[in-house]
Amino acid sequence: MLYHSTRSELNPVDSAQAVLEGLAPDGGLYMPECLPAFDWKACLNGTSMDMATMILSALLPDIPNMEDLVKKAYTGKFETDDLTPTVPVGNFGVLELFRGPTSAFKDVALSMLPQLLTAAKTAKGMQEDIMILTATSGDTGKAALEGFHDVDGIRITVFYPYGGVSQVQRAQMVTQEGNNVAVCAVYGNFDDAQTGVKNIFAACRGKELPFALSSANSINIGRLAPQIMYYFRSYRDLLDAGKIKLGDEVNFSVPTGNFGDILAGYLAKQLGLPVGTLICASNANNVLTDFIRTGTYDRQRPLLKTTSPSMDILVSSNLERLLYLLSGDTALVAELMGKLNKEGAYTVPADLLAKIQSEFWAAYCDDARADEIMGRVYKDYGYLCDPHTASGWAAAEDYIAETGDKRAMVVLSTASPYKFPVAVLTAIGGDTSGTEFEQMERLSQMSGVPIPKNLASLQGKEEKHTGVIEKDKMLEYVLSL
Ligand SMILES: *Cc1c(COP(=O)(O)O)cnc(C)c1O
Repeated sequence: MLYHSTRSELNPVDSAQAVLEGLAPDGGLYMPECLPAFDWKACLNGTSMDMATMILSALLPDIPNMEDLVKKAYTGKFETDDLTPTVPVGNFGVLELFRGPTSAFKDVALSMLPQLLTAAKTAKGMQEDIMILTATSGDTGKAALEGFHDVDGIRITVFYPYGGVSQVQRAQMVTQEGNNVAVCAVYGNFDDAQTGVKNIFAACRGKELPFALSSANSINIGRLAPQIMYYFRSYRDLLDAGKIKLGDEVNFSVPTGNFGDILAGYLAKQLGLPVGTLICASNANNVLTDFIRTGTYDRQRPLLKTTSPSMDILVSSNLERLLYLLSGDTALVAELMGKLNKEGAYTVPADLLAKIQSEFWAAYCDDARADEIMGRVYKDYGYLCDPHTASGWAAAEDYIAETGDKRAMVVLSTASPYKFPVAVLTAIGGDTSGTEFEQMERLSQMSGVPIPKNLASLQGKEEKHTGVIEKDKMLEYVLSL
């Protein structure tokens, strides 16, 4: 199947090549020329791994042996064989995406991506190693390390801002085992680390290196496609629980940053799954709420620090894929992205906005409201949720209040409450003193919810990666590996 850039139909590549390249040469994102015919009802009959196999084989047909790759990616790594269970909480279903090896929603995709990359390498006869470079504000780094450690033919380097990640997140990364991993702190903030990584890509373009550089973020179709599975899983779980009948539409409220998670929901709908409205939930960084309501995307505003840091983002890269899917017009997408780059803003034509609004709805929630929701959901239902999930819950409530829509509602839960113990303890009236490990202990004692094993076992583990470097030494660091 051929893929081309969202910004031009020229120079299409097959799906294996699209996964290997990540970003298209013109800066656009790879999309299939057209979506394949798909038997969505048959897909609902399988296990989560069967669903992943069917979806990934359909979208990435140039990568062989998908069933084996899926088994290697997921077997024994998640807390449940369902991978991503949906549990009833009040009137909503909560789709728990954080049951993976690092308690991050990113595990669903980053467990699969290394398998896809390795198989794509083999399919294309690529000999040299791939070096994955990632700057992280916390969760992505560990999920990528866990996915890529000890994978043959691939190496991984993670940079994080010194003092800029939580104690638990740091412990997760610096204790990482594996013979192909490097983790290093950088004096500076997340932007400095991310700019440093972009500069390394720029400096290395066209140079002879002992490896090919690549990235693990959601611009890669190989990271996006594995996320479609959990919408099918959730639909199946609602069917099994008798909440819906086959064919009923389900609404999903999605805590959104880079627009990867919610776009996977839209792709599930394109593959036939009866998805109703997709609700785009943001925190106080509400650039997407404004866009979906007005048609103007304007990144010229301060980036606010919130209790849901994984959604603190101003440029949401996968939105470009939606603009392409709904307009089918690569020239228009290229023009809009050019404007975003040069002027910091763009406005979509009225007909495109109407299409977006017929599929999506948007709302945002500030930290105080997230705190109120975490407290209320715990008090009313005994369910602990994290601040990202709370923003999804808020948007779902707002949507129902405004529209009166009675279709089933699923809120996607993107982080374990144990990843954000201070915010969660504050919301449920707990004491927030002590180290993060003490806070997790206290949260567990109060709620009776066990601490995920991978987090509990971090304390006292050997620190293997304690280096810190200046931000202008990142290239040197990578070349010395
Ligand atoms: C990455 C992340 C998100 C945002 O997901 P996107 O696919 O970037 O929209 C939301 N919540 C958490 C906890 C995350 O780690």
